[in-house]
Amino acid sequence: MNQQAPQRLPAATAAISVHGATKSYGDNAVLRGVDLTVRPGEIVAVIGPSGSGKSTLLRAIANLEQLDSGYVCIDGQLLGVRREGGRLRAVGDRQARRDRRRIGFVFQNFNLFGNLTAVQNVVAAPRATGRLARADARETGLRLLDRVGLADWADHYPRQLSGGQQQRVAIARALAPEPSVLLLDEPTSALDPELVGEVLSVIRDCAADDVTMVLVTHEIAFAREVADRIVFFDQGQVVESGPPELVIDEPQKARTRQFIGAVL
Ligand code: ADP
Ligand code: MG
Repeated sequence: MNQQAPQRLPAATAAISVHGATKSYGDNAVLRGVDLTVRPGEIVAVIGPSGSGKSTLLRAIANLEQLDSGYVCIDGQLLGVRREGGRLRAVGDRQARRDRRRIGFVFQNFNLFGNLTAVQNVVAAPRATGRLARADARETGLRLLDRVGLADWADHYPRQLSGGQQQRVAIARALAPEPSVLLLDEPTSALDPELVGEVLSVIRDCAADDVTMVLVTHEIAFAREVADRIVFFDQGQVVESGPPELVIDEPQKARTRQFIGAVL
């Protein structure tokens, strides 16, 4: 474990807090001291140029990536470490799995299991960990598929579904462990334009529930509509963060103005 643990943890009022996060690949400094706090129930949209480190940041929040320094807390608990007699130690595998359940992750390319049906995909994780009994799995899976409008497609395999439908299954799957935080990394950028709307509509519904969400997206109009806050990210740092009507309509920083001007 090479995360530097802080001596005092932030108050448990934040759903996500990232402090001083740095990460390099070789001599490519991808995260350069990122601070980000997300309140419970807050919808944060992260926008910024390609290659600026947005995916790396999201993966670090999900503990899919180790930071070089800094830390991430979910619900006030440090990921990857636990307290023992006032000291912080790396967690065991079981705790790491428990930590991971706090976070739902939706990938750009869906990443469904091709050999499982839609409903099997949705409940794969809770089934594998034994938290969901076989007898209850189908009903739970169908309820989640219904939430994304796909109850009628439960027994179809990913290859029989459109990209938009596959991504909706992936969202249902991410919600299955009842995570406190949902992270979505450009969930519509691999889709044909005519399929983007149905996925945005499902994300809009999720945003209306009390899930905390961090969404990386190029859909600026959608971000402005659903997000409580926009974070403009560039060159491994948060450049500007605030309500959509400020960051998108009246950006304070020249780099933000330039980016918004180019994409809108
Ligand atoms: P974004 O999501 O904003 O497009 P990324 O976080 O994917 O940016 O990537 C930021 C930088 O880190 C890029 O220069 C990319 O090439 C590099 N990078 C990302 N992942 C890896 C990796 N696993 N190994 C080496 N370099 C990586
Ligand atoms: Mg990315």
